[in-house]
Order: sequence, then structure tokens, then C-alpha cells
Amino acid sequence: MNKSERLPFPHMDITDCALVDGVLARQLRPLARAITLIESQREDHRVRARALLEVLLPHTGAAMRIGISGVPGVGKSTFIEAFGLHLIEQGLRVAVLAVDPSSTLGGGSILGDKTRMELLSREPAAFIRPSPSAGNLGGVAEKTREAMLVCEASGFDVIVVETVGVGQSEIAVAGMTDLFCLLQLPNAGDELQAIKKGVMELADLIAINKADIDPAAASSACSHIRAALRMLRPASPNWAVPVLTLSALRKDGIAEFWDTIERYRDTMTASGEFASRRKHQAVSWMWELIDTGLKQRFRQHPQIRAELPGFVEAVEEGRVTPSAAARELLGFLSG
Ligand code: GDP
Repeated sequence: MNKSERLPFPHMDITDCALVDGVLARQLRPLARAITLIESQREDHRVRARALLEVLLPHTGAAMRIGISGVPGVGKSTFIEAFGLHLIEQGLRVAVLAVDPSSTLGGGSILGDKTRMELLSREPAAFIRPSPSAGNLGGVAEKTREAMLVCEASGFDVIVVETVGVGQSEIAVAGMTDLFCLLQLPNAGDELQAIKKGVMELADLIAINKADIDPAAASSACSHIRAALRMLRPASPNWAVPVLTLSALRKDGIAEFWDTIERYRDTMTASGEFASRRKHQAVSWMWELIDTGLKQRFRQHPQIRAELPGFVEAVEEGRVTPSAAARELLGFLSG
């Protein structure tokens, strides 16, 4: 019997078998190392990461996946820390991941500050991982999705995926979580902005934070947002988007927030929408990867690389129509 036949996962080397064992045994260090492997751009690491994910896949799916977004300063980290500590008090384990669109622009990151969530980061039942910075938003979202699966295999009950309010990243996070929550500030006008950006349509739950500063303003913001929500078509016939008030700083409303999420999970599970949302997300993810892969193949194709500048010039000068150019160029792929 050779060495690989003795391994529990014959297509993996001994280091990665140990990594899998550590992840499944709920150890934080192997979990962090597995995510580092997933985030790596090196081709040999990508091959190992794919094998790792395949082995872990049967152990995923049990966590509640929660997306949280809001503008910088709304209180995301204060809230996630208070929420995480509340979950730990209930005997649950919580992982916090991030999709930080600013990290992809090379301009420093909004969500990467190490001093955030200091109390939570000291808890053995918590795991906090800053956003990967893998080039573009699609790449970052893909890595976070995969990191989420590894956390689930490592027995986390709740995964929080945090992002900031800039449109595209919110769509990505809503597309990988079971429930998407928008944190808002209690000043009128904000809700209209959110509607304009189309973000409110994504929300399954809205919470007005910093209600301690001006409770009257917070409750008036609640009514404004409820009125605004009535103008939107509900995403589910079984769920009217709740609007809650919070004070993350004083830990007010945190228990109600979790109760609401549990109610959401029960309602959506009973109606079958919980499972169908995940199925839909998995298939969309597949298509996203196919789109990315095809584009990559297109741009790397030797003949296309050679001919593309000529076609671009011809289209610019109106000598060839865009549709004819696209057809010809695509033809090289199958030729
Ligand atoms: P983030 O940028 O969205 O992560 O926001 P932070 O959690 O860093 O909070 C920004 C500031 O708002 C910090 O100074 C917090 O202490 C403060 N803050 C957060 N939540 C509350 C709250 O509920 N009430 C009050 N008064 N301040 C808060």
C-alpha cells in the first residue's frame, strides 16, 4: 500500500489532510490556514484549495448566513460585536467575514481595521476574518463565499458577512446569505437614498442603529422606512420586512434582532423559501463562475488577442458593426 492509499483523502497530501482534520475538529488555527489557502492566487494553492473544499462540502450548510451592510460609521462593528457576544451567551459559535469593496481598489480598506471588535475577537467561540483583497469585487466575493463554507464545516452556527453600502458589494453579499440586513442611521432622507440605490429591495430586515441618541428621530425614521417599504413589491409573500430600532452601543434591541432572525428562519423554512434561496444562489454562483471563466478564456485566446485591437479600431471608425465584430471574435473561440 503506498502512502496516498493510507490517507483518508487519497487525492490530498498529508498537510492538507491535517488541515481538514483541524477544520472539522473546530480548531481556529487550521481554519485560518485553510482560508489563507483559499485566498491565495498561486495556481498550486488553488488546486489544493479546490480539493479541500470538495472534502469539506458535505459538512457545510448548517449555519445561519447573515449579511449586514450600512454606510461607514453606522455602527456595523459595534453592532456585530454586541450581536456576536449575545450569540455566544446563547451557546452559539459565530464567524464574521467581510466583503470590502475598497480593499480591491488598493486604497486601504474600510473593514480591515484590526482594532475592530476587540472583545469578540478574544472569544474562543468567535472567528473574525477581514476581507480578502483579491483584485476585483467578483474575486473577493468568491473567496468570501468559499471561506463561509469552510467556517460552516468548522461548526459555526452563525456566519455574519459584513459589507459597506456601495451597491455592488451589497448585491454580492445578499446573494450569498440567507438574510440580508441593512443598518441605517436615524436621519430622514437616508431611506430615500437607499431606495434609489435599489438596496432596500435586497433587505430582509432593516435596523435603525444609534436610537439612544434621539429615540424620537429613530422612531420617526422607522415609520418613514415602513412607508417606503410599502411602495416596494415584497420579495416574499410570507415575510413583511421588519424595521427595528437598536442601540449597538448600549446593547439595546440585540436580543430582539436575533429573535427576529430566528422567526425569519422558521417562517422561510416552513414555506420552503429558505432552501430554494440557497439552491438559487448556488446555481447563480455557478453561472457567475462560468461567465468569469469564459471571459478569461476569451481574453487569453491567442488569435483573439491578435485580432482584437483591429476589430476595436474598425468598430470605433464605423467600418464594422459592433454585432458583426462580436460575432467574428466569438467565432475564434470555437474555431
Ligand atoms: P462602522 O464604521 O459601521 O463599523 O461603525 P462603528 O461600529 O465603528 O461605529 C462608529 C461610531 O459610532 C463609533 O464611535 C461607535 O462608538 C458609535 N456607535 C456605534 N453604535 C452606536 C450606538 O448605538 N449609539 C451611539 N450613540 N453610538 C454608536
